[in-house]
Amino acid sequence: ATPTALLVGTGRAAQLGILIKGPEILESTRQVDTIVLDKTGTVTEGRMVLGEVLAPSEVHRHVVGAAADTGTDDLRAQALWLAAAAEAGSEHPIARAVVEAAQAGAQRVGAALAPATDFTNHAGRGVAATVDDAGTSRRVLVGRPSWLAEQGVAGAGKDDEVVRAHRHAERDGATAVVVAWDGRARGVLTVRDAVKPTSAQAIVQLEELGLTPYLLTGDNRAAAERVAGEVGIAAGHVIAEVLPEQKLQVVKDLQSRGKVVAMVGDGVNDAAALAQAGQRGLGLAMGTGTDVAIEASDITLVRGDLRAAATAIRISRGTLRIIK
Ligand code: ADP
Ligand code: MG
Repeated sequence: ATPTALLVGTGRAAQLGILIKGPEILESTRQVDTIVLDKTGTVTEGRMVLGEVLAPSEVHRHVVGAAADTGTDDLRAQALWLAAAAEAGSEHPIARAVVEAAQAGAQRVGAALAPATDFTNHAGRGVAATVDDAGTSRRVLVGRPSWLAEQGVAGAGKDDEVVRAHRHAERDGATAVVVAWDGRARGVLTVRDAVKPTSAQAIVQLEELGLTPYLLTGDNRAAAERVAGEVGIAAGHVIAEVLPEQKLQVVKDLQSRGKVVAMVGDGVNDAAALAQAGQRGLGLAMGTGTDVAIEASDITLVRGDLRAAATAIRISRGTLRIIK
């Protein structure tokens, strides 16, 4: 490949909103046969919206079909309110959905979110913070039930009511987290995220280029398979419930099976996997995503449209063909 031809390729790509770090990157894309797609923010919009809030008596009704007690609304409001205060320090799409919903409710009563201190974020697991609940200090945790159980939260075991409701919500294809305060799991929050309108077409284009697509996510399997089904990725190619530090290993495993991997992602959690993919294949970041992901990648898809990944590969192959 002559430097000039590669420069022409990168120039054309730039016009299409595909920023390539250096012309030499186009050469490595020719060999790519596998494409690993992060779910949230890459295949989906990444703008989650709150669905249901299930608080104890509501949880009971959800699980056993009993009538909800009075006071349910208060408990649901408290669950949302405390969860939002704890999530205020997080940028995660789940956190944003919870905070937005609570703020919308608070605006109606002219209140502001409860102040929180000692916030900690646990990537791929959840958040914790100490919330000032009208003068009462409460330690609030929001996240995966398995992580809450690890933290010593009561009522977070797999047979407990709250966790059964969580599982039920996940089986419906929602993303669900548990909220705990004062040492006990008390409610379930569900969020939903729409698939980008261009993602299904992008999968068709990638397959036409001979690439095998995989969906990779920390989210639960049912939610991941629902998204995979909507865009046409085989259920056997869904890699779900992957902790952030394991995303890198997924790419390495594919590489050790001889695959040349392109990875597309947008999150802080994706950065190590994007860099790993770039060593022998390609790392592509959504321009709408985090700076960390963009820095770790060879290519930035400025508009966050997954079809641009197929275009990038097509341009590189075209460029290389012309100059052979
Ligand atoms: P993805 O791969 O879809 O970006 P993450 O690795 O960020 O997913 O998160 C995986 C799971 O960890 C979430 O589905 C949720 O259960 C939990 N989690 C992560 N961050 C948070 C948060 N800020 N609040 C609550 N739960 C969280
Ligand atoms: Mg993401």
